[in-house]
Amino acid sequence: MIAPYGGSLISLFDDVAGADRLPSIQLSERSRCDLELLATGGFSPLDRFLARADYERVVAEMRLANGTLFPIPVTLPVSDDAPVAQGRDVALRNAQNEILGVMTVEEIFERIDETPVFGTRDTRHPLVAEMRGWGRRCVSGPLRVVSVGTPWDFRELRRTPAEVRALLAARGRENVVAFQTRNPMHRAHEELTKRAIEALDAILLLHPAVGMTKPGDVDHATRVRTYKALTETYYAPERVLLSLLPLAMRMAGPREALWHAIIRRNFGATHFIVGRDHASPGPFYGPYDAQELLVQHEDEVGVEMVPFRELVYVVEEDRYEEASAVPPHAATRSISGTQVRDDYLGKGEPLPAWFTRPEIAAILTESHPPKHRQGFCVWFTGLSGAGKSTTGEIVVSRLLEHGRQVTLLDGDVVRTHLSKGLGFSKEDRDANILRIGFVAAEIVRHGGAVVCAAVSPYRATRDRVREMVGADRFVEVFVDTPLDVCEARDKKGMYAQARRGAIKNFTGIDDPYEPPLSAELTIETTATTPEANAGRIVELLRERGWVLLR
Ligand code: ADP
Ligand code: ADP
Repeated sequence: MIAPYGGSLISLFDDVAGADRLPSIQLSERSRCDLELLATGGFSPLDRFLARADYERVVAEMRLANGTLFPIPVTLPVSDDAPVAQGRDVALRNAQNEILGVMTVEEIFERIDETPVFGTRDTRHPLVAEMRGWGRRCVSGPLRVVSVGTPWDFRELRRTPAEVRALLAARGRENVVAFQTRNPMHRAHEELTKRAIEALDAILLLHPAVGMTKPGDVDHATRVRTYKALTETYYAPERVLLSLLPLAMRMAGPREALWHAIIRRNFGATHFIVGRDHASPGPFYGPYDAQELLVQHEDEVGVEMVPFRELVYVVEEDRYEEASAVPPHAATRSISGTQVRDDYLGKGEPLPAWFTRPEIAAILTESHPPKHRQGFCVWFTGLSGAGKSTTGEIVVSRLLEHGRQVTLLDGDVVRTHLSKGLGFSKEDRDANILRIGFVAAEIVRHGGAVVCAAVSPYRATRDRVREMVGADRFVEVFVDTPLDVCEARDKKGMYAQARRGAIKNFTGIDDPYEPPLSAELTIETTATTPEANAGRIVELLRERGWVLLR
């Protein structure tokens, strides 16, 4: 078996008696994933989150302070108020507040500009964007770990480097070729992995990243179902090992490819497949930059790269081939990931058999219903009496008429149960809106339609709700009725009471209303009827594909 990178597998498991009395910090899911790979040896030779000297040299030169090649800074950023002090122990907790381990803090240091790692400052790069929200300081020091908080799904496929090595050793084959993926596998991927298996007389270590991948990727549970179906039906069982990797990807393209190879060596791989656009989140790297970088460092990493150019389907010959090897005038086909989502799954079109195996198509279809069966949220905002409920009720009726089940979360109604007891202070108002937002997000996540009608006067809070629901499923409708009109309507007699001072903090009277800056739709209600406004909203929903008007 190939030796781990750096010679031996790191293990950080140890006793942490008394950890419950220590100050503690809560790890993000990203840091928890990193801790898992540190503790089990996936990041060997790292035995801790990077110390300052290692960190700075990794960023600048892809090397630890001692010269060892290591391309990605695995650091532990902490919030500015984290209870950390040099020389002191701090407990590390997961999102559920369970203690995962203890760090003896040896160093606290400022983060530096990590542009060399990503090759860009562009915030369209998901990690560049995410890092803006990280704390400015990192901590490092020896770790004692009791638990890595491994998720419970697909436990039988979640294995440590030592476990994978033991299974591979039992198979008794010299070559192990690893395949990294964060997407469902289609016939092109099947073809290239099978080519690698054959050419190297190897076992395939099918090693999907199931920590964090690119936002918007197919969820890992769906992906794992496809990997299971594929390996069970289409690979010789003795030539494939499916195992899940709890990696929080950085989407750093070339540097990430190097990192992936190092990690797979720790899991026992001798070879590593790199195709087009490896770990690339968009137009930041050349399609084969990752191959070029890995080739330069292959000897040092000790893992041989198995490069592939793009594979396409050759129609005449009913097979896959590297685009460069296809005869000049032969017809070829391919479907991008975006097309899979928008042109096939989103429209309820079946994925063609030349593109993917029927088992995979069935799983993807099941977990990605067509747009008109996906969830969305219509969020009305505006002054009291503006016409949110009136218009919202008509929208709900129209949607019902067109075959969508809808939940209406009306601010006044919600305050009688979900938000019972909350008043109208800024805190209580925010709590109310965030509760409605939480419920709306759950409804949308499960494919439901929800219409929310609450004053929701504060822009920042509405934006948080937009974030919770998902910006691409959120339709903000500003009911732009002037205050004097609302006051004249005074359906509930509230304005009169507010003017008398009998109720306080009334929006528009003695509490501000912050109009949306970029609502999806603005309606006015002095010259337009509620029916006409509801019609415009339903039309917008139809255009976006959420309603089929039959
Ligand atoms: P959850 O909602 O997380 O399932 P609960 O609301 O029941 O759990 O409890 C929250 C936490 O408090 C859990 O860690 C649970 O184990 C603990 N807990 C609840 N009731 C008791 C109890 N009677 N004795 C000890 N621990 C408890
Ligand atoms: P909100 O939910 O925004 O507090 P409501 O819908 O409860 O407001 O109240 C709006 C009042 O204004 C209702 O009495 C409604 O009949 C009246 N109204 C008059 N014209 C319109 C219009 N074009 N759109 C909506 N409501 C209108």
